[in-house]
Amino acid sequence: MAPVIATWLLPFLLLAGADDRTFTVAIDPGHGGSNRGAPTKKEGTYEKHLTLALAKQVQRLLVGERDLKVVLCRGTDILVPVRARVRCGNQAAARLYLSIHANAAGGGEPPGSQRGFEIFVLPVADVDKEVARVALLAKDDAEAAWAGHKLRVAAEQSLAAARRIEWRLADTLGRDRDRGIKQAGATLDVLQGLEMPAVLVEIGFLDHEEEGPFLLSEEGQLAIAKALAGAITDLRGREQRGRKEPMTTSPRPGQSARKEP
Ligand SMILES: [Zn+2]
Repeated sequence: MAPVIATWLLPFLLLAGADDRTFTVAIDPGHGGSNRGAPTKKEGTYEKHLTLALAKQVQRLLVGERDLKVVLCRGTDILVPVRARVRCGNQAAARLYLSIHANAAGGGEPPGSQRGFEIFVLPVADVDKEVARVALLAKDDAEAAWAGHKLRVAAEQSLAAARRIEWRLADTLGRDRDRGIKQAGATLDVLQGLEMPAVLVEIGFLDHEEEGPFLLSEEGQLAIAKALAGAITDLRGREQRGRKEPMTTSPRPGQSARKEP
């Protein structure tokens, strides 16, 4: 996909409406309830516990931040269906959706052999499918075009958001822990149908000898939460700078194109 950094500000202006200053981020702590996720080396502790602890820590770090609101798609140890997680982001009119997960070696790799973080965004083919789906639900061509446009812009911007999160995590955890930004190799249902830039972060490998205990430690969780919170405030800052220096935006159906200096 072509680089999208230059058009970074566009979607937030398009998706959010220029009068709404609050940058809402929806954080989805992966798994929950009977869906425990990957086991850890600590008896009775699973991926679902880590994802919730991290999400809450990020929320705590961002309390009091101006024009920033954090919505957790689950705040307790409960089972939340995938569609409800997607609704959580859309109903909050979030400008960023962050799904948090942790890994365990699989796909033929021996347990404990992998480490590092990786970030996922929806593959282009899935975005195309989603655009086709919303077009069928739209009441006319203009609405279909607008809905499709919003999804495509959000998908492009997901990559830009992923790059920012990657940069912050690599800065905190080390460049050698960076497994990259990917579009395949994980279940990404939770990113389907979201109307805002959305990423899924696999924060590290629970079955790795050193990384597993680090992820469960207070120190490790605080470091990771700080990196994620930092990325979120970076993204909010970029959006706010964009509001002060508006860029050309595409017209909504029924509106004329407006070019600002
Ligand atoms: Zn998971």
